[in-house]
Amino acid sequence: MLHLRKKVVPLRFQHTINIMIQRKRNTKAKALVFSVLSDSASALGNDDIVSRLSGRLGRVTVYRILQGFCEEGKVHRITGDNGKTYYTLCQGCTEGFHDDNHIHFRCIGCDTVSCLGDEVSFPELPAGYRVLGASFVLSGYCPGCLST
Ligand SMILES: [Zn+2]
Ligand SMILES: [Zn+2]
Ligand SMILES: [Zn+2]
Repeated sequence: MLHLRKKVVPLRFQHTINIMIQRKRNTKAKALVFSVLSDSASALGNDDIVSRLSGRLGRVTVYRILQGFCEEGKVHRITGDNGKTYYTLCQGCTEGFHDDNHIHFRCIGCDTVSCLGDEVSFPELPAGYRVLGASFVLSGYCPGCLST
C-alpha cells in the first residue's frame, strides 16, 4: 500500500509545482520586457520589443505583459498618428492612475516615439465632462534623423 501513497503525493504537489514554474517563467518574461523598455531611449511597438528579444518571447506573451504593466502604472501606451501603439516606462505613475500628460513626438524617419517635456495643460472643458486620459502626439523628424 505504501507504493500507492508514493504516487499520490507527487501528483498532489504537481499542480503547485506547475504554478510555481509558471510564476517563475512569468517573472522572467516580465523582467525581459521591462529591460528592453528601460534600455530604449524611445517608446517601442509590440513587434519592436519582440524582435529585440530575438524570439525569446512570442508576440502574444509580450502583448499580455505590456497590458499588465499598463494596469500596474509601470508603462504607458501611446497611439501614434499612424495608428500604431508604442509603449514606454512611466515616471511616477501608480497602479490604476497614470499621469502621462506630456507631449509625445513620433519620428516618421526612424519610427520612434519619445516622451517630451513637462505636463501639458489643456483648456477647461464645458461643465459635465470628466477627463480620464489625454493624448498629445506630434510627428516629424527627430534630431537623429535630421542630422544625417
Ligand atoms: Zn503612466
Ligand atoms: Zn528619427
Ligand atoms: Zn510618455
